[in-house]
Order: sequence, then structure tokens, then C-alpha cells
Amino acid sequence: MKNELDLSACAYGDVIGKEFSLVILPWGATEPHNYHLPYLTDSILSYELALEAADEALASGVRAMVLPSVNLGSQNPGQRELPFCIHARYETQYYILRDIVASLHYQGMRKLLIVNGHGGNSFKNMIRDLAVDYPDFLIAVCEWFRLTDNSSILEIKGEHADELETSVMLHYHPELVDMDKAGSGATKSSALKTLNEGLIWIPRNWKDISSDSGVGDPRKSTAEKGKLIAEKVVAKLTEIIIDLGKAN
Ligand SMILES: [Zn+2]
Repeated sequence: MKNELDLSACAYGDVIGKEFSLVILPWGATEPHNYHLPYLTDSILSYELALEAADEALASGVRAMVLPSVNLGSQNPGQRELPFCIHARYETQYYILRDIVASLHYQGMRKLLIVNGHGGNSFKNMIRDLAVDYPDFLIAVCEWFRLTDNSSILEIKGEHADELETSVMLHYHPELVDMDKAGSGATKSSALKTLNEGLIWIPRNWKDISSDSGVGDPRKSTAEKGKLIAEKVVAKLTEIIIDLGKAN
């Protein structure tokens, strides 16, 4: 059945006459994800999780529309050089977000939740800027991969194209995963001691830390683990959607 909360699938006739309390914007990236996951992994996962949570929230009386994912993410050096990795500047991302907010605001909508799926994206300053221009428009952001503690399900900690992303992708889209090709996702630490200690931040050069573009071993990933994690994340996301949807 066509999902009437999925703007990628529904028609004008599905939305007219309905009140939407919230709009959800999944935001990902276009970048290599080790050898076994699709370039659009971050966009696909945030979209699928948002869609399921929006469905759940409807049962509690909160109707939220899920927009198509934005596929343009901010990229680290070293990763940006790999074929077809697309780096979007702050201004590009800001203007995309600004135009979406301007359109929704004009149409009378006042609440937007960004579900971020890409660790390199950062929206706080954009949201502060937009709060100046649209003081009556609420923009919230969450990162799905930080919403739940998955340590009891996952065996190996990672960061990019790791056991977490791979398992959740195996749950939603096994046809897009080729586990036979998965690299180890092994990483080298930096020569900078204070960076390794977390005292400073710099954009890490991806080529120096990873050989297959992955960070974290994905080879223990399973669809069963992905299902358990997706259930936990969807429950949290649903809670967020209901909370925002019902707020004045
Ligand atoms: Zn990713």
C-alpha cells in the first residue's frame, strides 16, 4: 500500500484537506561506504527509519510528512577525493535548508525535524540563523545513530559503514548489500596525540585512517541485529515526532 506520509510516493490528492503537525527531512550524503554498502546509505537509512516512525506516530494522532532525503553531505578530505563522493559546502546545505523552510513556512507549516544520517553534517548554526529569519518556525535535529545504546546488540564499535549501518541496511534493503565484498574497515590512529585524546577536532584525512573508506569492521553484521536496532531507533524517533507534533 502506498504510504500517505511519504512525499516520494504520495500524490497531491493524498495530502489536500489534511493537517500535518510536523514535516520530517531525512538528510544523508553521497559517499563511499566501504566496498559493500551503497553510496546513498546515509540517505536511505534516515529515510526508512523516519518513514516507519511517522507511521507509528500517526496512531497517536500526530501526522508528519516525510520529505525525500537530501543526498548532499559535508565530506572530509581524503574521502572527498574518492570517485563520486560529493562534498557540499556549508552554504549549499544552508540554502537547501533555507529554501525548504521558506516554502513550508509560506504554506503555513511551522515545525520541521531533520533526521540526520551522516556524521559529517552539522546543522546547529544553520538552525540558529534560520531562527533569526523565521522566529515562529521550529527546527529540530537528531542523529538516528545516536538515539539508542546498541552496545548489547553490536559486537564491534565503528563509525562509518560499520556493523551498525550494515546491519540496519541488511534489515531494510538486503538487496543493496554485498557482504562478500566488505572490507575490514580497519583504521589507523592519528599522529596527533591530542586529537586521539579528543581534546581537539580537525577534519580527519580519510585516506590516512582507512583503506576501504570504512571505519569499523562490518563483517559481523546481520539483518537480525539490524531489525533489533531499527525497532529501538524507530521507538525513539516516534517519541520525538509525537513530542514535537503535540508541542505548541
Ligand atoms: Zn554512513
